[in-house]
Amino acid sequence: MTRFLVSLLRPYHLRLVLSIVLASLTTLAQISLFAVAGYLISASALHPMSVLLLFVPIIGVRFFGISRSVLRYAERLMTHDVTFRILARQRVWLYDRIEPRTTRLAFTMGHGRLVNAVTHDVDLLQYIIIRVITPIASSLVTVIAVFFFLAHFSQTIAWTTITLQVIAGVFIPVMTHYLGKKPTKRMLDTRERFYAQWEDALVGMKEIQAYGQESAILQKLSQEEDNLIQEHNKIAQIDSLAVAAVPWFSQVAMLLVTVLAASLVVQGHLKGVYLAVIAFVSLSSFEALTGLPQAFLQLGAIKTALTHLQTIASTKKDLSDHLETTPSSISRHTLAVRNVTVTYDTTLAPAVRHVSFDLPMGKKLAIVGETGSGKSTLLSCLVRLIDYTEGSITLDGQFLTQLAVDDVRKQFSVLTQDSHLFHTTVEDNIRLGNPAAPLSEVIDAARKARIAQCIEQLDLGYDSLTGEFGAQLSFGEQRRLALARTLLKDAPILVLDEPTRGFDALLEQQFYETLPSITQGRSLLLITHRLLFMQDMDEILVMQHGEIVERGTHAILLKENGLYARMVRLEQEQLTFDLPKEAISGTLSMW
Ligand code: ATP
Ligand code: MG
Repeated sequence: MTRFLVSLLRPYHLRLVLSIVLASLTTLAQISLFAVAGYLISASALHPMSVLLLFVPIIGVRFFGISRSVLRYAERLMTHDVTFRILARQRVWLYDRIEPRTTRLAFTMGHGRLVNAVTHDVDLLQYIIIRVITPIASSLVTVIAVFFFLAHFSQTIAWTTITLQVIAGVFIPVMTHYLGKKPTKRMLDTRERFYAQWEDALVGMKEIQAYGQESAILQKLSQEEDNLIQEHNKIAQIDSLAVAAVPWFSQVAMLLVTVLAASLVVQGHLKGVYLAVIAFVSLSSFEALTGLPQAFLQLGAIKTALTHLQTIASTKKDLSDHLETTPSSISRHTLAVRNVTVTYDTTLAPAVRHVSFDLPMGKKLAIVGETGSGKSTLLSCLVRLIDYTEGSITLDGQFLTQLAVDDVRKQFSVLTQDSHLFHTTVEDNIRLGNPAAPLSEVIDAARKARIAQCIEQLDLGYDSLTGEFGAQLSFGEQRRLALARTLLKDAPILVLDEPTRGFDALLEQQFYETLPSITQGRSLLLITHRLLFMQDMDEILVMQHGEIVERGTHAILLKENGLYARMVRLEQEQLTFDLPKEAISGTLSMW
């Protein structure tokens, strides 16, 4: 963890040193102000022969008074500057780490904890500089400087002050840290649960309403909020005790130092004019320690935040780092999958086992099969979202793993099973497929995806906002918009995972009618549960438990009368009720 922290701060070490120097100078200016003021009061009380003798301390009071404010301003500017630079870089750094691990992190941490890491954990880093490193370093400088200053007058006074400083600046903060450890851990766990419940409640609002669970959810949330407030209160109690303890010690120090100094004055070992100076220096030196208990109280939370960030950074990537040795020269766009096996985690059974197929340019290949049989997993391997464990995939004879990931992804236009719409305009959502495309092509893609008419009816047309999670559009409309995005990308291999999910029967039929024109000059890999339009496919792979159990054309598979034929029969029985006769007549006649 220390190495991780050092790597985080290394690029800013000069600014950090400057912050510490400024913080130390500010505290020293403050102490000097008290010292000179003490001297001025005492010297004035002794009625000097000439007022001119007071001239230097008066200037000193002004000088330290002004320099304290200026230095404090400069120190705040510098510490916040370093902090914000780190925070800004940290979020980009974190995104860079999350992006190649999306599949694994979504599985191991969940989205709630990832959001927590991007917001709270990164925010907590600001405490490291503002509340921990700078105050600890500057208080160390102050304590040493004050010790030597006081030792110049009396060793006993110097040791008395430093002993109380160690109690207030080390013992109390360490105590605070240990007392706050458990409540902090409980607070962090409760907060994580609380946010996860909020996320669930917001995303699943409709289900909650439909099942009449509003009051149960509210009760759960308010119970969790009470727990959170309770833990915050416990931490606040420890915090306030610790904050009060430092001034208490400063008063004790001043009292002791005054008594010791007074006895030295009585014994004639110290000039009376320095008594107030020593007492004030001792008192004001504790100012440097006031933030330390709070800093130590935050240590537990900071440690947890750093652990989270480190866990994210050290999670195995979805794709291992391959040496990209082959310069890409893909012209025939021929895909060959050989004996591919995919295992998500060593503890889990393979999601795909020994799958082989060819997809030469222009071929239309369908992958069908029961849910959970590994279809989408296979797709993720092809477009290099995850690694396969065994076997090989080649494009024009070149191993996918030896090509640059971007070069591979350029070969595919993909519609994933759970396509996401961004909180932006309809046009921008489609344009993601090809940011350079003119509006005419965006509209053309929308037409092919059967969504153009629907968009034109919106008040702002292509400038309408789709809303977070595409909330202003129906599910079928969202899917069609995502399909338009896929169609806009003019890649040689079109990969569609359940493209007509959420379509009504008529729309689905229209889509499959236009599919030949959409796929003209491209290869097609279609993953679907709908077997109604399979006659046009050059090959159909039937998957079960991660394996290909049947393969062939629609006609051949029907003749074989195996799993595929059974699935077609079942679907037709179902569809006889919800499709117009003419739509299914083609399939029925094949049967
Ligand atoms: P469906 O028809 O329901 O979309 P599918 O054939 O696409 O199913 P996959 O999504 O490929 O099936 O899943 C295959 C298996 O892999 C399933 O058992 C699933 O639980 C598992 N799986 C999928 N994604 C992950 C993941 N990120 N981590 C671990 N296991 C996963
Ligand atoms: Mg799937």
